[in-house]
Amino acid sequence: MGAYFSEIFLGLKSLAIGLGITFREFFKPVVTVPYPYKTLKMCERYRGHIELVENEEGTPKCIACGMCQRACPSGCISLASKSVAYEVEVKGEMKTKKKKVLTKYDLNFTTCSLCGQCIESCNFDAIVFSKEYNLASSRKEDFHFDLLNRLKERNS
Ligand code: SF4
Ligand code: SF4
Repeated sequence: MGAYFSEIFLGLKSLAIGLGITFREFFKPVVTVPYPYKTLKMCERYRGHIELVENEEGTPKCIACGMCQRACPSGCISLASKSVAYEVEVKGEMKTKKKKVLTKYDLNFTTCSLCGQCIESCNFDAIVFSKEYNLASSRKEDFHFDLLNRLKERNS
């Protein structure tokens, strides 16, 4: 009979301890995020896929020099450019000069190792790591990014 009541007492005691912990945790600040309804802001050093950076006019800072493409050990970057003529005043005279304009900047993220060689090789701060972390797909094609188009969409 004594063992019977002792078991009931132990059961109630452990229930009270458990409820006490639950009650205490109930009033502590929430540390989880109800993903995907809410997402976290990534830290400064987080490395998502690379992204083009725009200048004040909203066009790419990239001058299509091709350094990042050559620096990439995985051959993920493919870019193209065209030559565009523009007028500039030199000593009171209008002169026609030419410059390269980026027409395509594609990233094959399936083979990117996020090594950062491309960013380090860019002398114009024209590419950065994005904060994109919730990419998911069963199709490889969904990880081929048209970064020039993404920049245009960001600014539209
Ligand atoms: S991102 Fe930088 S390194 Fe790459 S082509 Fe543009 S300017 Fe050159
Ligand atoms: S982070 Fe590395 S692997 Fe990825 S695109 Fe840049 S250079 Fe290539």
